[in-house]
This record gives sequence, C-alpha cells and structure tokens, in this order.
Amino acid sequence: MSIYGDYIKSVIRTVPDWPQPGVNFRDITPLLQNSAAFRKLIDSFVHRYQEMDLDAIAAIDARGFIVGAPLAYELGCSFVPVRKKGKLPFKTISETYTLEYGEAEVELHSDAFHEGDRILVVDDLIATGGTMLAAAKLITRSGGQVVETATIVDLPDLGGADRIREAGYSVFAVCS
Ligand code: AMP
Repeated sequence: MSIYGDYIKSVIRTVPDWPQPGVNFRDITPLLQNSAAFRKLIDSFVHRYQEMDLDAIAAIDARGFIVGAPLAYELGCSFVPVRKKGKLPFKTISETYTLEYGEAEVELHSDAFHEGDRILVVDDLIATGGTMLAAAKLITRSGGQVVETATIVDLPDLGGADRIREAGYSVFAVCS
C-alpha cells in the first residue's frame, strides 16, 4: 500500500452489480475527475519507481493506459501498450488466459522493447490476476525483464496478487 492509499481508496466509487449481478465494480472515474487525487495517484507510482531504472512502462488496455502514459512521461521511459486481441496493427505476439466464462487474449508488438529491458506492467485493478499475469508472461516470453506489476486497486479476497506472486512476479498496489 502507498502513502496515499487510504485517500485514493476514498475517491474510488464501488458500483454494485455492474456489469453483471454479483460484481462490485471499482469505478475510478471520480478519482480521475479530482485533479488533486489524480496527481497523488501518479505521484504514488513515481515515488515508488523513480529510482528503479526502468526502460519501459507496459500498460494494459484500457484503464492501465491512464496511469501508464503519465508515469512513462514522468520517469522518462518508453510506453508500451498491451492490447486486447486484434487492436495492434504490426506483428504481434499474444498470450491467452482463462476467464470465468471462456478465454481472453492480450497482445504486444513484436518490436515493443529490447531484450533485457527493465519493464513495469501497470493496470487499474487486480481481481483474479489473470490479465496481469498474462501480460507479465507475455513480456517475459518476449525477452523483457518484469521488474514489478503495479495496480491502483488490488482485490485481495480474489487472490489475484497471490497468484501473480506465486508465478514469480512482484506486485505493488496503491490500495486494496
Ligand atoms: P482479472 O484479470 O480478473 O484480474 O481482472 C482485471 C481486469 O478486469 C482489469 O483490467 C480491470 O480493469 C477489470 N476488472 C475486473 N474486475 C473488476 C472490478 N471489480 N472493478 C473494476 N474493474 C475490474
């Protein structure tokens, strides 16, 4: 948890039963509308990563982009989009993962970074951890070094962060 974790959590809205019954959707739009809160959010990540000598921020489609782009700008490293299937125009490599019902796939351009680059993977939320883990595996497979996976919100009851750690990746969450 970050220094601003409790505050950031207080400006995230929970919408019950969306997009389907039983899901408590963590809506970050109130956080984004609040300029002081959004600054504190980005500062939380900058504070943690400014000495880590990163080469790239790999951000997961789509809400990961909101954090990843300002972070890459602030840290002076490159920005790599990890996209849902079928969105990237050049040569891609992909990783398939299991959802509660069915499968999903994340993709990366084959020239997204150099062998051995130090990469941070970011997304807005870790639930089951499947999305983040697929992105981390994809980056590892393509020769990148995943320094950490980072999220705004971790939902610990769903065990996603534990699953990612068990696979050998470090996890940082601003709040849970
Ligand atoms: P998972 O792969 O199960 O960890 O799900 C994480 C991805 O799904 C992230 O990209 C989130 O944006 C989205 N997501 C899953 N559950 C929620 C939730 N309860 N609230 C907001 N976003 C969610």
